[in-house]
Amino acid sequence: MNNNRTSWINVEPGSDFPIQNLPLGIFSVPGKAPSAATRIGDTVISLYSLAKRCFFEKTGIDQEVFNKPELNDFIALGKPAWHGLRESLSEIFRAENLLMRDYIQNTEDILSPVQDVEMMMPVKVGDYTDFYSSIEHATNVGIMFRDPANALLPNWRHIPVGYHGRSSSIVVSGTPIHRPKGQTNPGNNEPVFGPTKEFDFELEMAFITGQATPLGSSVSTAEAEDHVFGLLLFNDLSARDIQRWEYVPLGPFLSKNFGSVVSPWIVTLEALEPFRVPGPVQEPAVLPYLKFSGDKNFDITLDVLIQPEGADPARVCRSNFRYMYWNMAQQLAHQTVNGCNINVGDMYGSGTISGPTSDSFGSMLEIAWKGTKPVTMADGTTRTFINDNDTIIMKGFCEKDGLRIGFGEVVTKILAAI
Ligand code: CA
Repeated sequence: MNNNRTSWINVEPGSDFPIQNLPLGIFSVPGKAPSAATRIGDTVISLYSLAKRCFFEKTGIDQEVFNKPELNDFIALGKPAWHGLRESLSEIFRAENLLMRDYIQNTEDILSPVQDVEMMMPVKVGDYTDFYSSIEHATNVGIMFRDPANALLPNWRHIPVGYHGRSSSIVVSGTPIHRPKGQTNPGNNEPVFGPTKEFDFELEMAFITGQATPLGSSVSTAEAEDHVFGLLLFNDLSARDIQRWEYVPLGPFLSKNFGSVVSPWIVTLEALEPFRVPGPVQEPAVLPYLKFSGDKNFDITLDVLIQPEGADPARVCRSNFRYMYWNMAQQLAHQTVNGCNINVGDMYGSGTISGPTSDSFGSMLEIAWKGTKPVTMADGTTRTFINDNDTIIMKGFCEKDGLRIGFGEVVTKILAAI
């Protein structure tokens, strides 16, 4: 889509949602069942209302795929349908299309101000994998918890390390999360039970797959992006003291599955095309099934802010998705190289996205360096981890040649343990 195209819907300067974005989500308004939506500026657009009036007739998309509380049925239609919908919306809402403007503005149930709607989980997440693909994050954790001289484990530059997580506890932005309780071993002596004392966030992106594969087949790095529907912001909440005690030998378990939070709008890979960049050089060379061609990283600026109760938010991190050592194509190729099948609506977390400098670290564990460097909040209080009643805010956006495409926010208030 032309970068200069504008919409007859108002888009404020600096908005994450110009007509070039057209993200997809699920919204609800009082008295109506949840259904599919897109967004331009601060206006939420009902896709089911448009589909019912035959706006997407040319695309051949069954209108009922938009009349669902999740996007899975639409996503399952594949790339031609995703592209067709985007083309249709781009035409309907372009500034010159006054005929459409007059019709839609005079039709009651198509447009809603964003403040009048509730955003829901955009997909029913099937399987969920979380990778560990930022070399800066893996190195920082290795220095803090193992051997500074050999911070990266021997497999790290050869394998996109990951684990299978739990999808039942993935929730949408705005859902408050209680401080989890669990077993820890603070003195490396006798374990104790209680609320975590090391409540942390992990700044991540996640991608959603949109094309299933049969068991026994593999997805190559060249094919992988055809399976990627789009991306979300992802806050992988973590309890570090629980994690430290439980993670050997089988990896994270109860330290990660008490609430993992995504942003409500899925930004499609097609909208992110202008922001491709090369990734870091991979040395030593990877095995043949992990080789790829072209630019597979994306320049997405990522911010984390912490807002204590009654105070202004303070930014504690500015990172970028482009720092990822392993890209999405390599992650998906690795996930399926053994014949593991994937499904529509699966979610794949990137792992914490840390950059090279201390102001770009993607978790409190790293920012406050295991509690040794407290961070000052807007109200003068300090944090080494997250306190009760703090709100964690993550934002993400791309900017190039006057075009800005953003993800909005993922906002999570942390409540006391129950
Ligand atoms: Ca994680």
